[in-house]
Amino acid sequence: MTGKSVLISGAGIAGPALALWLHRHGFDVTVVERAPAIREGGQAVDFRGAAHLAILERTGILDDVKALQTGGSELRVVDAEGRARLTLPESFTGGAVEIERGKLADLLYRRTRDRVEYLFGDSIAELTETADGVDVRFEGGTRRRFDLVVGADGLHSNVRRLAFGPETDFVKPSGYHIALYEVPAHLAVQGASELYNQPGRGISIGGGDGRAHAMFVFHGAEGPADHRDTEAQKRLVRETFTGLPWKTAAALSALDEGRGFYFDSISMVKMDRYSKGRVVLIGDAGYGATCGGMGAGMGLVAAYVLAGELAAAGGDHTVAFPAYEAQIRGYAVECQKVAGNAGLFLAPRTARGIKLRDRLHKILTRPFFIRFLDKMSRKAAESIDLKDYGVGV
Ligand SMILES: Cc1cc2nc3c(=O)[nH]c(=O)nc-3n(C[C@H](O)[C@H](O)[C@H](O)COP(=O)(O)OP(=O)(O)OC[C@H]3O[C@@H](n4cnc5c(N)ncnc54)[C@H](O)[C@@H]3O)c2cc1C
Repeated sequence: MTGKSVLISGAGIAGPALALWLHRHGFDVTVVERAPAIREGGQAVDFRGAAHLAILERTGILDDVKALQTGGSELRVVDAEGRARLTLPESFTGGAVEIERGKLADLLYRRTRDRVEYLFGDSIAELTETADGVDVRFEGGTRRRFDLVVGADGLHSNVRRLAFGPETDFVKPSGYHIALYEVPAHLAVQGASELYNQPGRGISIGGGDGRAHAMFVFHGAEGPADHRDTEAQKRLVRETFTGLPWKTAAALSALDEGRGFYFDSISMVKMDRYSKGRVVLIGDAGYGATCGGMGAGMGLVAAYVLAGELAAAGGDHTVAFPAYEAQIRGYAVECQKVAGNAGLFLAPRTARGIKLRDRLHKILTRPFFIRFLDKMSRKAAESIDLKDYGVGV
């Protein structure tokens, strides 16, 4: 039991998972989240391979995740009339177990909320490192001191900006953006996802459990300068997709009231180092890929490793942070490779590109290739040996 105090910025997936493990190891944990509550929203995130399943089990949430899991769904690439031109089986997109991102975030929060201090609706305004701690000023005005600070605040990490420098130094955009929100259930084929494309634009609608989500992916347009300007993001989605056939108009008409709106650029975070003094990054903040890079599994694995190394080093960050990075960097790089460019897959830029993708997928959906691709993504998900840090559920 170290009794050291740790401030985590961000209550997405990696933040609450780290809070859970740090608390088990005897740390005193505070989580600050800018949103007023745990953010719902997002589509299904999947877990695949032995390392992910072992982490879900060790974290103590495997049964709950299984109970809440969404059935995987096949992906039908459709034409303007909704006729399937190509069907990718569920094994092409899903993992061993899938759960809606919002449900996973909520589950991790419920597991920690009685043991960990959560500060909602606030954010770190200033970090000043001293010889024996980090002085933190919050936007709400409070000042406190912590032994360590962790940035688990996603692609646009505030801690990364404060401790390492401007976002543009580390976030490499692909030119694609993604938007997600809930649409009326009748728009979806339950148990399947459909994808309609025009060059540089893709709209997918998928459903399960009597609900439906729309996903818009597009290339070329500049995102709003302020990544938190939801109104400008919705305007951009509307401008980019208005006039497209299929179910586009119906999905756009749910844009204003659609629950769980999420918008971001599809980008990769590349950092030379994940820590600086008493500050360390975890999850998307340090090595995110927006989508396709198994970010949820990565966040859970990284939380286990960072907390375990801190415990093993008796809270000495000068030992624990390099040990964490030594284990996680290779894993993060493999997962980012799998993410590749999800935008290009979901919305090829030209009509020729769309045809090529479809032709390629007709080949890739043959059983041999399905097995091969599954093996490749499991290989990335398993490219880490999990140490035993000696604390059970
Ligand atoms: C609403 C939402 C929906 C998503 N949907 C999908 C999806 O459908 N598919 C997919 O593959 N991935 C999705 N993602 C990304 C996915 O959650 C991550 O790739 C992965 O789970 C790693 O999680 P993370 O905890 O590192 O980051 P995130 O899950 O992005 O969590 C970061 C958290 O930090 C908070 N935060 C940001 N800035 C501050 C600040 N200044 N102060 C305090 N807190 C801050 C955010 O509000 C958020 O709760 C989504 C993320 C969000 C936030």
